[in-house]
Amino acid sequence: MSFRIRCLDCGHETPYHPLTINCPQCKSQWREALYDYDQAAAAFTQELPQRRFDLWRYREVLPIQKPNYDLYMGEGGTPLIRAINMGMMLGCPNIYIKDERQGPTASFKDRQAALTIAALKEAGITELVAASTGNVAISYSAYAARAGIKLWAFVTSLVPAVKMREIALYGSQVVKVTGSYDQVKQIAAEFAQQRGLYHDMGTRTITSVEGMKTIAYEIAEQLTEQLGKPEDGSRWRTPDWYIQSVSGGLGPVGVAKGFREMKDMGFISKIPGTIAVQAHGCAPMVHAWKEDKEQAAPVQNPKTHIETLATGTPGRSYGLLRREMKTHGGVFESVTDEEAYRAMHVLAKMEGISAEPASAVAFAGLFKLIRAGIIKNTDLVVVNCTGHTMPAEPLVLGSGWARNVVLPQQQEAQEKTEEEGLLAALSRVAPDRFPRVAIIDDTLDARRLVRRILQSQGEFTIFEASNGREGLEIVQRELPDLIILDLMMPEMDGFAVLDALKASPNTAEIPVIVSTAKELTGEEKSRLQGQIQALMQKGDFMSDDFLEEVKTLLK
Ligand SMILES: *Cc1c(COP(=O)(O)O)cnc(C)c1O
Ligand SMILES: [Zn+2]
Repeated sequence: MSFRIRCLDCGHETPYHPLTINCPQCKSQWREALYDYDQAAAAFTQELPQRRFDLWRYREVLPIQKPNYDLYMGEGGTPLIRAINMGMMLGCPNIYIKDERQGPTASFKDRQAALTIAALKEAGITELVAASTGNVAISYSAYAARAGIKLWAFVTSLVPAVKMREIALYGSQVVKVTGSYDQVKQIAAEFAQQRGLYHDMGTRTITSVEGMKTIAYEIAEQLTEQLGKPEDGSRWRTPDWYIQSVSGGLGPVGVAKGFREMKDMGFISKIPGTIAVQAHGCAPMVHAWKEDKEQAAPVQNPKTHIETLATGTPGRSYGLLRREMKTHGGVFESVTDEEAYRAMHVLAKMEGISAEPASAVAFAGLFKLIRAGIIKNTDLVVVNCTGHTMPAEPLVLGSGWARNVVLPQQQEAQEKTEEEGLLAALSRVAPDRFPRVAIIDDTLDARRLVRRILQSQGEFTIFEASNGREGLEIVQRELPDLIILDLMMPEMDGFAVLDALKASPNTAEIPVIVSTAKELTGEEKSRLQGQIQALMQKGDFMSDDFLEEVKTLLK
């Protein structure tokens, strides 16, 4: 395929190679991919109807030699869903949801990952470094695993543990950095440079922008399929607005490029407005926009629990989006975490779509802008929706799946600005705050079942032991709020564990639920009398009684 890279600053053109990150002429890292658009338009006209609906259907405008279906996992081709109930509620009937949850790892980062990893594979590169607020690393990890490429995933320590575990599950090396996301990016870049490794650079990564733009192509095709050809005679229909929650701004930068290309090829007549929604506690672009500034001042201490959106330094992405908005319409807006959670609930209740909080930010922005009259009731709106909920199995990994990096200055800075809330936020996400439950059972399946039931009902810190002796040690060390104890176990049975617990003042008062598969004799029952809070028969675990019991005992 024929493509080249043009420098956004001096216009110099070069061939593409993933390891070349600057313009050779002016050293700028801001470049974009160009294609033979006549050839692409001809290919699209002829071949699109026969091609399957995935990201590679737009191969003539992607920076790879050829699609590598060995790595394929269903990237792209996500549904465009009309939000009928929500539309009715908001008095805005033409709201469409681009359901990026249905990508291979449930976020729109799959587009960027699929394309980047395919390009690296083509170039024979076997290792890469990426800084991430979670979803990028998950997505890259999945594709890297398929491609046999090693990923060093640098994440902030605020990234939820399930996401970190998922990254580790795919075999990537998690490097957990105690610091802001901007600092994480910095040390990831330094690490990559030291080792001469390929390094993802967000909006400056050609393949990332190009991956995101496929969202625009799909939206145009899908709207046309659902609503028919536009009245003005052009080939594809476009929305009035594309709305996305924004951290580094990669998504909307890519999407806007997609629409521009379609317009240049004569496929569409109108480029939609771009709406970028940020979390209120980390909204550098919104501040700059409202003050009509050309550059966004960094937010040093992001104050949002929505870690995915914690890019404090937007850099040049802001300028690119601002120009886009000034040319084709659009705004930056921000919403609070609470508004996002509320929107998340509304979306789930009204449309059956469970989004992650970061995506809910876009929906909260939609609500706000409809109320403000910026989005008109007759406008056609497409909202990017991603939702990442898969919990990874901690047990599969064992311990030692992350390496910790504590940046000393950041630690001090945090201590000095305690009122800034970062420390408070940290203590809120730290597992210590969750009820602590020890599960002592020699059957793995039984432990897993209990854990699943507990996790389905909220957050717990769970300790597991596979025999009585180990269980006793864990209880003595961790002093949990509740113990779930099996009776028949090797090494030390449940009765002996109970005796030992009751013998020590530290552990005597911890409530115990005995779960057993065994029919108890009268003598055994009387042995348990007064020693435990509840007795559950195995096989009965799905009953609500179990959860009720747990909740009551934890109060
Ligand atoms: C990455 C991500 C964002 C932010 O996207 P950018 O285009 O990089 O600003 C928003 N929501 C979700 C769910 C994400 O994964
Ligand atoms: Zn240049």
